[in-house]
Amino acid sequence: MKDPRGRTIDSLRLSVTERCNLRCAYCLPAGPVSFASEEELLTAEEIEEAVRFLVERAGLRRVRITGGEPLLREDLLDLVGRLRPLNLQDLSLTTNGQLLVSRARALRDAGLDRVNVSLDSLDPERFRNVRRGGDVKKTVEGIHAALDAGLVPIKVNVVLLKGTNDGEIVEFARFGMKRGIEVRFLELMAIGEAASTHEGRFLSMDEALGRLRASFRVEELPRPDGSPSIPFAVSDGNGLGGTIGFIAPVSRPFCNACRRLRLSATGLLRGCLMNAGGVALAPILQNGAGDDRRRGLEEALRRAVDEKPWVSAMRTGVRMNTLGG
Ligand code: SAM
Repeated sequence: MKDPRGRTIDSLRLSVTERCNLRCAYCLPAGPVSFASEEELLTAEEIEEAVRFLVERAGLRRVRITGGEPLLREDLLDLVGRLRPLNLQDLSLTTNGQLLVSRARALRDAGLDRVNVSLDSLDPERFRNVRRGGDVKKTVEGIHAALDAGLVPIKVNVVLLKGTNDGEIVEFARFGMKRGIEVRFLELMAIGEAASTHEGRFLSMDEALGRLRASFRVEELPRPDGSPSIPFAVSDGNGLGGTIGFIAPVSRPFCNACRRLRLSATGLLRGCLMNAGGVALAPILQNGAGDDRRRGLEEALRRAVDEKPWVSAMRTGVRMNTLGG
């Protein structure tokens, strides 16, 4: 479907839990965090129904499962199995990779196409500092397990943090090139913890590109339709080459090309990451029936799409794990 400004809407970020097994310093507070309870989350059956509706009514083609950490959801394989037959072009998942080693094969068998893995440092100690826990080795092993299982193409997401991982940009590019993986550098957004605690930590795409240009030949490639990532061909002149990407919502906003809706784990349908509100699908999915339910979902979809901003505010104190990153 098209939104009122003519943007095609065919992609969904689907959050399946608010819980996370890490506490990334830019994402969650260090202290105790309260998460929505299991009872407050949409069930796998409700999610399946909402996604089926969006496929049939809005022409949804792509779903990316996220959270919180989606691998913490116990019925994830069942959910993937329910979504697979829904005529999607692309069914992917974003994970921190800590639990991926043991789940990669089963996710592939359940019908998942591919994974994006978040990895903000290759250095064990820095990884633990940024992510407040976890083990970089597990995430790297998870990436290898995903490659072996055929969850490809894999993308590795690196949030650029000035003074923290900016010395690793070249190393990350090599890491991706050696494995045939696209590393994507993300500009830090003022969301959740980052909105209040990370002033001064922002590193722009242009600054990061400067670091890459000091070591590699770097050439911008055309951005594929609907992709938030700006791709670059990178090579070291000695036979090592590949593609890296930049997601630069701050220095190069892409709202005018955004094709996404978001469904939170608790069932709020939103047109933009920065919309703190959202339209509640749970009451419609849980109480309606037949034509009433269909009308309710139609109305909810229309409202979420109408509220999709042309230019996002790009700042919110609402945490990413509840918005569904
Ligand atoms: N737990 C999964 C993971 O770690 O990939 C999925 C959820 S996480 C919220 C999704 C992505 O959002 C991760 O790549 C994370 O680094 C990124 N992210 C979180 N807060 C961010 C921020 N303020 N700016 C940019 N990216 C952010």
